[in-house]
Amino acid sequence: MSQARTLRHRPGFRFAFDPDSCSDCPGNCCRGIPGYVWVSAGEIRNLAALLKMNIIDFKQQYIRKIDNRLSLKERRLGDDYPCIFFDIGSRRCSVYEARPEQCRSYPFWEENRHLTGDLTHDCPGIRGDYKPSEDECRNDS
Ligand code: SF4
Repeated sequence: MSQARTLRHRPGFRFAFDPDSCSDCPGNCCRGIPGYVWVSAGEIRNLAALLKMNIIDFKQQYIRKIDNRLSLKERRLGDDYPCIFFDIGSRRCSVYEARPEQCRSYPFWEENRHLTGDLTHDCPGIRGDYKPSEDECRNDS
């Protein structure tokens, strides 16, 4: 007997997300086009603690400053720009337990509120056929 999958949904979003699909994905949300993974001071502390590093060394090795904000660094592998913590071999996040909120909240990002073809293409966990309840529609401003 197959186990029922649990879909995640957030009010205001026109899709649901199936986290079980991550195991079939090459890690598209952690690589691809250049981008930023914004991190707070608390998230930097958690990541440094996970890696048993002091904050200064951690920042030097893994953090870049963009204007007044801090982002994880990324690598360049041809046309692919994976996050510095993305393990290409296993196709998994190497700091998963301490990953920042931006990663935890994917794919429920403001810019994804209105589902686009690109998102469906990038993320096999998107279920665009999700029908929000009437209450959710009323709250979706
Ligand atoms: S911290 Fe982990 S989950 Fe977030 S982008 Fe990097 S590899 Fe992906």
